[in-house]
Amino acid sequence: MSNKQYDVVVLGAGAAGLMCAITAAQRSKSVLVLEKSNKVGKKILMSGGGRCNFTNLFVEAEHFISKNPHFCKSALKRFTPQDFISMVEKHKIAYEEKKHSQLFCINSSKDILNMLLAECNDLGVQILTDIDVESVKKLEAADQGMRYQIVTQSKLNQSIISCISLVVATGALSIPTLGGSGFGYELAKQFKLPLVPRHASLVPFMFTESIKNICEQLSGVSTYVMISCNKKSFEESMLFTHRGISGPVVLQISNYWHPGDEIYINLMPNINAQDILLTEKDKHNKITLQKYLNSHLPKALVLQLQELWWPIHKDKPLSEISNAELRSIGNRLNSWSLKPSSTEGYRTAEVTWGGVDTNAIDSKTMEARSHPGLYFIGEVVDVTGHLGGYNFQWAWSSGYSAGLVA
Ligand SMILES: Cc1cc2nc3c(=O)[nH]c(=O)nc-3n(C[C@H](O)[C@H](O)[C@H](O)COP(=O)(O)OP(=O)(O)OC[C@H]3O[C@@H](n4cnc5c(N)ncnc54)[C@H](O)[C@@H]3O)c2cc1C
Repeated sequence: MSNKQYDVVVLGAGAAGLMCAITAAQRSKSVLVLEKSNKVGKKILMSGGGRCNFTNLFVEAEHFISKNPHFCKSALKRFTPQDFISMVEKHKIAYEEKKHSQLFCINSSKDILNMLLAECNDLGVQILTDIDVESVKKLEAADQGMRYQIVTQSKLNQSIISCISLVVATGALSIPTLGGSGFGYELAKQFKLPLVPRHASLVPFMFTESIKNICEQLSGVSTYVMISCNKKSFEESMLFTHRGISGPVVLQISNYWHPGDEIYINLMPNINAQDILLTEKDKHNKITLQKYLNSHLPKALVLQLQELWWPIHKDKPLSEISNAELRSIGNRLNSWSLKPSSTEGYRTAEVTWGGVDTNAIDSKTMEARSHPGLYFIGEVVDVTGHLGGYNFQWAWSSGYSAGLVA
């Protein structure tokens, strides 16, 4: 059985782990990265539809959700979007700004992963894939400064690895086929660190019965809406799917939704639907409500809403529908209240909400307060970003912060 020693061992070769490895190696530390799956950076490759939305030009604490909303500030200041952009430019990676100040690769997400791997390679970071971490223990009597011992199993052999600093960058539960795992939480429990309850987030909603049927009929139709839940609102496009609703606006609001909550969809943001319906009625022309709304919303959606909200008036001219009824329809157009039955869960979620409680971690270094030399970075921590490059920025910033001291 081999027995090796390193200054820093990083568990997980994803966004946060690779950034931490680079930063520690720049300080001349010997760094080993252990990756469970057969390839590194799978989520980076799949991200942003294959073009990796690697950061956002405007990153503030308000773009993140955590039990402690101030926790992310220090790391985000230490390693900013501009710092990551400088790295991207140093490697001559072509990128572009899309709406909402999101930055994407022009060619492929591979550019970002290759950049991180090239930096690791130049700095002598060792990366091993297909590694099972069997156990982690804290060394009571630190031998030559070694504080943690890891037993690993690969196809070839079992190894004992000792290190001064152990960095947990194993990500979270979303998309198990891309490496999603609960390993970091188990390790946190082993070291008696508190956890904030987890659930799938940045994820589509599902419905049952009549609303599910409507979504099924409208599968593939998209429309620009505002969705609100728990005093938070987002405006963007919404996509009907055969199970429910998806699209950027739905993923954004899912960060603020809890089981049992209602969501409110404004199908005509920036338009007072009551007012326009009553004004149209005053014109006394023969147009039906369906025909009139077709100029504001996708026709297929109007047809479904008609079946749901005004089936008895479908052949009547708008001028023959009572004001009270038009007000009620207008209200629903501006605030359609729906109760999702659930989300699509970790199978399709971009992130996991919750994680290692930030109370247990130093916000400047990511070190566990009660265990010197043990660090938690990236998605495993209770910091969840909005859609738009924020989750990667958290991975880069937290990874960098730990790498500066580990
Ligand atoms: C489909 C998809 C698209 C996304 N697109 C974007 C986007 O465009 N922009 C954005 O900002 N965010 C995006 N995200 C979110 C982003 O990918 C994550 O927030 C980010 O990857 C988290 O980085 P991480 O290093 O903490 O975890 P990960 O990137 O998940 O890395 C964790 C690594 O640890 C490994 N691992 C797990 N368990 C073990 C173990 N026991 N031992 C060793 N290794 C282990 C995993 O295999 C993995 O390689 C997307 C997510 C998904 C799923």
